[in-house]
Amino acid sequence: MRYGIFSDVHSNLEALEAVLAALTGDGVEGYLSPGDLVGYGADPQACIHRVQGLGARVVCGNHDGAAIGRVDVSWFNPYARAAAVWTQGVLGPAEREYLGALPLSLVEGPATLVHGTLDRPGDFDYLFDVAEAAQTLECLRTPVCFVGHTHVPVVFLEEQGRIRVVVDRVVVIPPGARAIVNPGSVGQPRDGDPRAAYAVYDDRTRTVEFKRVAYDVRATQEKILKAGLPPILAARLGQGR
Ligand code: ZN
Repeated sequence: MRYGIFSDVHSNLEALEAVLAALTGDGVEGYLSPGDLVGYGADPQACIHRVQGLGARVVCGNHDGAAIGRVDVSWFNPYARAAAVWTQGVLGPAEREYLGALPLSLVEGPATLVHGTLDRPGDFDYLFDVAEAAQTLECLRTPVCFVGHTHVPVVFLEEQGRIRVVVDRVVVIPPGARAIVNPGSVGQPRDGDPRAAYAVYDDRTRTVEFKRVAYDVRATQEKILKAGLPPILAARLGQGR
């Protein structure tokens, strides 16, 4: 089966639509999202409805939790906090219910989903290095784990007890090996490439393909400014930082 993997949409509807259009062309049969549907951007409701309509399997990110008052925003930077408070104010009961029902981790077919790390999903730690990858792999019971949170595409590949970082565009997971895969961010990339990031995983060939798609950044920026959200949240989209 071919899965479309998209994470950290962050209320960016233009980026989400571009990715979903591209995924249609990629021939995917299921959708998996490691969280943060909302936060930062100006279209939380539309993004929730769009992802709900896909029947995607989704886990709860820290910004999703913050949007319904479940995650303490005093640890957020001032811009993230302002966006979380703004999002709390625009969500209706149906959207709050959807976000509130998202699990911290889940297993779907060959894959496990979690926003941060599998050893402490509710702490929303960043998974940046091999030591952190090792702790998640200890808890992993499927061949592959999809994560988000850092907004940077990467694979941690565990083969014969060794873990290494792989950043190729196409990564084949050899038989017996396991992988933690971050598809990058749809709505707020932070790897210097402003295009929306996503991935396609084919469990028959055990292949992960990293993809990028351009979207109307200007339109998204204008919505963020018009909503009265911090201007830096618009500016950073143009730089992919
Ligand atoms: Zn995020």
